[in-house]
Amino acid sequence: MALRTILTYPDPRLKAVASDVANLDGHIAQLCEDMAETMYAAPGIGLAATQVGESLRVIVLDVHDKEEGPGKRLLKLVNPVIAEHEGAITLEEGCLSVPDFTAEVKRASRILLRAWTPEEKEIAIEAEGLLAVALQHELDHLDGKLFIDRLSRLKRDLYRARQRKQDRQGRPASSGRSTPVI
Ligand SMILES: [Zn+2]
Repeated sequence: MALRTILTYPDPRLKAVASDVANLDGHIAQLCEDMAETMYAAPGIGLAATQVGESLRVIVLDVHDKEEGPGKRLLKLVNPVIAEHEGAITLEEGCLSVPDFTAEVKRASRILLRAWTPEEKEIAIEAEGLLAVALQHELDHLDGKLFIDRLSRLKRDLYRARQRKQDRQGRPASSGRSTPVI
C-alpha cells in the first residue's frame, strides 16, 4: 500500500471528468487500497480517484460513528451511478481538495446508488443523511466538480480571495473541527 498525494484546488486535474473502469484488474484493487489508506491518513471520510490524479470512476468512503471506529464501514465503489434520488438536505461540508474551508451545500437527502466492488460484485446502496451527502460529494469529484462549484458566486469569490491572501501570507494551522471532510 502507498499513500497518494491529494490534489488541491485549483489543480486543473480536479476538473477532469473521470472515465468508466473497463476492467476490474489488479490496478483497480491496488488503487482502492491506496485511496483508503490515503483517506484514513488525511483524515477524511471519502476520497475520489480524481483527487489522487487518477481519472477513473472509483471512490472510497467510510462514514462511521465515533464508537465504531474506522474500517468496518469502508466502501470501495467502482463506476458508481445514482439511480434514484429524493428529498433535500443541507449539511456543512469540507473537502480534502479544498483545505481550510467549509460551507453548507444542499443535496438530495436519500439516494439509491448502484456500483461494482473491486471483487466484481454488483451492489446497490440505499443511503440517507451523511452517507447520501458523502456519496454525492464523491460523485461530483468524478464529474470534475468541487463543492465550491455548488455555492453562490459570492461565497466562492470569498473563498478565492481568502486563499490568495493565505498564499501570500502562509496558511494558518487548521482549527479542530467536526465538519465532515469528504
Ligand atoms: Zn471532496
